[in-house]
Amino acid sequence: MNTNTIVSQHTTSEGIVVWSRCACGRLQMVLVPYGIHGKGLAAGGHDIQCPQCGR
Ligand SMILES: [Zn+2]
Repeated sequence: MNTNTIVSQHTTSEGIVVWSRCACGRLQMVLVPYGIHGKGLAAGGHDIQCPQCGR
């Protein structure tokens, strides 16, 4: 189950910066390098893990 919600994402010179909000309410930023573009984001960000609750 994916409890993270992507609230915004934008491209930078190094990759795609994704802001997501966990079910616990914590906001976190993840940089997805261009090398894995199409894998990380297409998966819906389920590999983004919250350091607070581990989801
Ligand atoms: Zn969390």
